[in-house]
Amino acid sequence: MKRILVTGGAGFIGSHLCKKLLDEGNEVIALDNFFTGNKRNIIELLDNPYFELVRHDVTMPYFAEVDEVYNLACPASPVHYQYNAIKTVKTSVMGAINMLGLAKRVNAKILQASTSEVYGDPEIHPQPESYRGNVNPLGARSCYDEGKRVAETLFVNYQRQNKVKIKIARIFNTYGPNMHPDDGRVVSNFIVQALRNKDITIYGDGSQTRSFQYIDDLIYGFDRLMNYTPDDFYGPVNIGNPEEFTIIELAGLITELTGSKSKLVFLPLPEDDPLQRKPDISLAKEVLKWQPSVSPREGLIKTIEYFDKLLKEYF
Ligand code: NAD
Ligand code: UDP
Repeated sequence: MKRILVTGGAGFIGSHLCKKLLDEGNEVIALDNFFTGNKRNIIELLDNPYFELVRHDVTMPYFAEVDEVYNLACPASPVHYQYNAIKTVKTSVMGAINMLGLAKRVNAKILQASTSEVYGDPEIHPQPESYRGNVNPLGARSCYDEGKRVAETLFVNYQRQNKVKIKIARIFNTYGPNMHPDDGRVVSNFIVQALRNKDITIYGDGSQTRSFQYIDDLIYGFDRLMNYTPDDFYGPVNIGNPEEFTIIELAGLITELTGSKSKLVFLPLPEDDPLQRKPDISLAKEVLKWQPSVSPREGLIKTIEYFDKLLKEYF
C-alpha cells in the first residue's frame, strides 16, 4: 500500500484519480482549496478510512510523508483561471515549488498535470512534445499557459539538480462525469445547454478545433506514466485523444445524442483562443504502450447520463 497525495483532489480529474487509487488499495490524501472543486465529487470516498480530505491551498507549504504526489491543483477552465489571473500564476508556480519541495524532502515520485496549452495557438499540427509552442506571454490565457510552462521548468530542474523523480503529462481537452455544470468548458456547457433546450453558445464561427479525451483514458494514461519503469522516463508526454472536431461538429453531436431542440447562437471568440489542437501521441504509444480506447460518442453518452441525473437532483 502506497500513501499518495493528490492536489486538486476534489476537482473533476482529481476525484476520478482518488477513487481509482483507493480502489487499488492505496492510502490517499486529497488536498484542495475548493475553488473549482466540490465535495460532492468525492462524497462517496469520505467514509473510506484510507481517504483523507485536507482543505489547503497549494500556494502554502504542506508537509506529509507520502510515496507519490499527483499535482493537479489549478483551475482548468478559461473562465475560472482568468477570474484571478495572479492567483492562477501563484497556484501553478508556488504550487509546483511547494509540491516539488515536499517530494524532494520525502523522496516521493511526483507527476505534474501539464497541458496542451503549453503549445499556445500552435503553428504545427498535430502537436508533438518537441514543439516549443506559440504562447502570447501577455494575453488573457498567459496566466495559465505561462504558469504551466514555468511549472514544467521547475519540474525538470528539480530532476536535474536534486534528482527528484518527476513525470510530466501534457493533458489535452478531457471531459466526463464530475465536471461542474458551471465549469464553463465547452463539453459541459454544450451538454447542460442541450439538456435544458437552451441556446448552444458557439464562440466565434465554431471552425476552431479541439480533440476530446474521455476521463477514463486519461486516468489510465496517468497510471502508465507514473508506474512506468525505469523511472528516468519522465516525458513530457502528450495524453489525449487525437480524434479532432470543430466546435460546430461537437455541438451537432451533442444535440443529436441528447435529442435536444436547442439552437446554435454565435458569440465573440475569446482572446487568443487557439484555432486548432490535436495531440501527436506517438511517444505515449511507443513508450507507455498507451492510447485512448473510448470513442467520443461513447464518452459523451456517459457524460450526458451524468449531467442528466445531476441536473434533476441538484440544479
Ligand atoms: P478542476 O478545476 O475541476 O480541478 C482543479 C482542482 O484544483 C479543483 O478541485 C480546485 O478547487 C483545486 N485548486 C485550484 N486552485 C487550488 C489551490 N491554489 N490550492 C489547492 N487546490 C486548488 O480542473 P480539472 O479539469 O480537474 O484539472 C485538473 C488539472 O489538470 C489542472 O492542473 C489542469 O490544469 C490540468 N489539465 C486539465 C485538462 C482538462 O481538459 N480537464 C487539460 C489540461 C490540463
Ligand atoms: N467554446 C464555445 N462555447 C462554449 C465554451 C467554449 O464555443 O460555451 C469554445 C472555445 O472558444 C474554444 C473551445 O470551445 O474554442 C474549447 O474551449 P474550452 O473552454 O473547453 O477549452 P480550451 O481548449 O479553449 O482551453
